[in-house]
Amino acid sequence: MSAIPFDQRDGVIWLDGEFVEWSQARLHVLSHGLHYASTVYEGERVYGGKIFKLHEHTQRLYRSAQLMDFAIPWSPQELQAASRQLLQRNAVLDGYLRPVAWRGSEMISTSARFNRVHVAIACWQWPSYFDPEARMAGIRLKTADWRRPPPQSSPFEAKASGHYQIATLSKHDAENNGYHDALMLDWRGHVAEATSANVFFAKGRTLHTPLADCFLNGITRQTVIELARALDYQVIERTILPTDLGDFDECFLTGTAAEITPVQSIDQQRFEPGIACRELIAAYTSTVNA
Ligand code: PMP
Repeated sequence: MSAIPFDQRDGVIWLDGEFVEWSQARLHVLSHGLHYASTVYEGERVYGGKIFKLHEHTQRLYRSAQLMDFAIPWSPQELQAASRQLLQRNAVLDGYLRPVAWRGSEMISTSARFNRVHVAIACWQWPSYFDPEARMAGIRLKTADWRRPPPQSSPFEAKASGHYQIATLSKHDAENNGYHDALMLDWRGHVAEATSANVFFAKGRTLHTPLADCFLNGITRQTVIELARALDYQVIERTILPTDLGDFDECFLTGTAAEITPVQSIDQQRFEPGIACRELIAAYTSTVNA
């Protein structure tokens, strides 16, 4: 990898209420968030200087913290104002914003009652290379060995760091085998989502997507459902089994980073990215740039 490592870039990072030099935005190795994954975060995208769905992302950050039993010591308005200032200070017009909150160093044990909660926001330039035709080739997915756990195992609605360990394992396995990403099943063996994006299937003018009952109901997923209905697609949230995949013509992923990414295959099953992908990519592009 030739890209500059993330701790060595230029600019400023908002850390616990102050703008600090990028290289100085540090935490101690004895941080609860590091040892016990008591960390929640957001991924937001900036289009033309505007943060897309900032309100929804901010709400999810606070909900994630609440579900993980910690309180963010700043108001949503303060973090939103800090995010906007940060974009200006770093001159980011088209990019990505990463707010993160974690428990500090007061206690190193499963109990963390007295740990201070820290918050940082970083952002960087990351233009959306939304060349629809290049995207239409589609990516290849491999079904993961790891499964999304049942809702009784952890608060799945939280965008919490601990939930990403099986995602990283699954993504590595997919990449090691020449695929772009993994498709994760849930504990019942139903189709769930990719490692950091939701999944949709199309058959004619009907979209099918798994019910978000044990994984993140993505903000992009919700946006795409609205856009699709406005374009007269029928959208069905339902149980989808791996054996159902042959019923569909098209498949695509949705996510803040993935935007709408057509899929050409899942294991041996092939899809033909077509009119549904094209129409929804066009609608999504104009919505984020509106
Ligand atoms: N599922 C997972 C596991 C994710 O990490 C993401 C990205 N946040 C999504 C789905 C899509 O969510 P969103 O559309 O809100 O980015």
